Amino acid sequence: MNWLPLYHRSSNVKFIIFGGGQVAQRKVQTLLKFNCDVTLISPQLTPALQVMISEIKVSEAEAKITYLASTALQEHVSKGCHVVAATNDAAVNQSIAQWAKALACPVSIADDPQGSDFIFPAVINRNPVTIAISSSSESPALTRYLRNQLDAALPTRIPQLANFVSNLRATIRSTIDDTEQRQRIWRKLMSSAMPNLVLAGKENQASAVSNSVIAEKEQVGQVFLVGAGPGDPELLTLKAVRLIQQADVVFYDRLVSPPILEYCNPKAEMHYVGKAKSDHAVPQEGINQLLVDHAKLGKTVLRLKGGDPFIFGRGGEEIEQLAEDGIPFQVVPGITAASGCSSYAGIPLTHRDYAQSVRFVTGHLKDGTANLPWDELIHPHQTLVIYMGLTGITHISQKLIAYGMSADTPIALIEKGTQPEQQVYTSTLAEIGSVIENNTISAPTLTIIGNVVKLHKKLTW
Ligand code: SAH
Repeated sequence: MNWLPLYHRSSNVKFIIFGGGQVAQRKVQTLLKFNCDVTLISPQLTPALQVMISEIKVSEAEAKITYLASTALQEHVSKGCHVVAATNDAAVNQSIAQWAKALACPVSIADDPQGSDFIFPAVINRNPVTIAISSSSESPALTRYLRNQLDAALPTRIPQLANFVSNLRATIRSTIDDTEQRQRIWRKLMSSAMPNLVLAGKENQASAVSNSVIAEKEQVGQVFLVGAGPGDPELLTLKAVRLIQQADVVFYDRLVSPPILEYCNPKAEMHYVGKAKSDHAVPQEGINQLLVDHAKLGKTVLRLKGGDPFIFGRGGEEIEQLAEDGIPFQVVPGITAASGCSSYAGIPLTHRDYAQSVRFVTGHLKDGTANLPWDELIHPHQTLVIYMGLTGITHISQKLIAYGMSADTPIALIEKGTQPEQQVYTSTLAEIGSVIENNTISAPTLTIIGNVVKLHKKLTW
């Protein structure tokens, strides 16, 4: 461990930067963002540095950067400064470092971590929260990679959460004397629904939850109704991943692909609640009640559903009871099967040449018949997406023909869309029945009907 991470008060550090190239530019950008005083010394500047300096001149009073187009370098190094030697000449950088060291100024030398007293970390900024990352100069590329990964995973509203928590801190300090009690309350607050409510922009609800935690009342938990998308785990939203990782108890259905369950906390209680056609491991009312019961035990409950919970997913029914009982919940949309399958099969759902609208339907089959508004479905410039198993597709195709849709209208079946096993079968309304008979196509399968299916051959990838 050769590098010590510390935070400096930015108004108390003065930087002298030698160099006007890309390296110097990056340092200046960082330092100005953090309101440091910068003196930049270089006969030449990158265009971006020139802009920065001219813009800053406009508000001279607050100017944090002083620019000297000088080549006489030594006279500018003065005691108490942090020196950055970032010229494009390694020998010049070394001399700068020597002058700096002679004056006991800490120095950072471009491309020479061994000779440097300090290095610049990669920074994630969610002011007032900052995260500094360094690989001890071993690999800037790795540092940047980690920075980007973490940055993408961190919620954007951390500043609001920091502000909320800071206000709470003041309240708790002034009302509770006992240190142990304070600590217990903080533990409870941070595992309550409060942080997620603030992150979701629901400050009022967050205050209500915090007040009840501070009053040490019995706590209810929270429920996340999360869309898991069509299968490819990389189609999860950032919010979905963040909430999935937090759950104590998980209720998932058949459509949630196994790699997605890997994101759950290994300690989470996992419950499969079915949803295959004839395999209702738990009936719908039972699921609604389970969510309520577990939340009332103070747990963070995840209801994970395939695709989007509000598209043929009964998501609405599952949160009704939660709303009635005043249990905090959030709904996270997922990529619905229509979007996922259409993209991964190269079949755009709309296209100026073929379809100006798209319609999602599902058919409740009774004895192989579907009760659908046939007249509205046969529109020639409309793409039809059918969410349901294959059992009724032949019947639906015949009905569409009977209502006037052309028998050679293209149709695609997308089996296990977006997953490694994805298969796409294309045919026509007249012939789809034999395709289904002659292949073993398994669930889940999505059907797309309309002229856009013609694009599949060309756009498949
Ligand atoms: N809420 C889900 C849909 C649930 S209805 C969503 O928004 O996607 C279930 C139907 O969705 C299945 O019968 C099938 O037609 C379709 N489906 C879901 N995931 C699919 C996938 N990965 N590939 C193909 N079809 C899928």
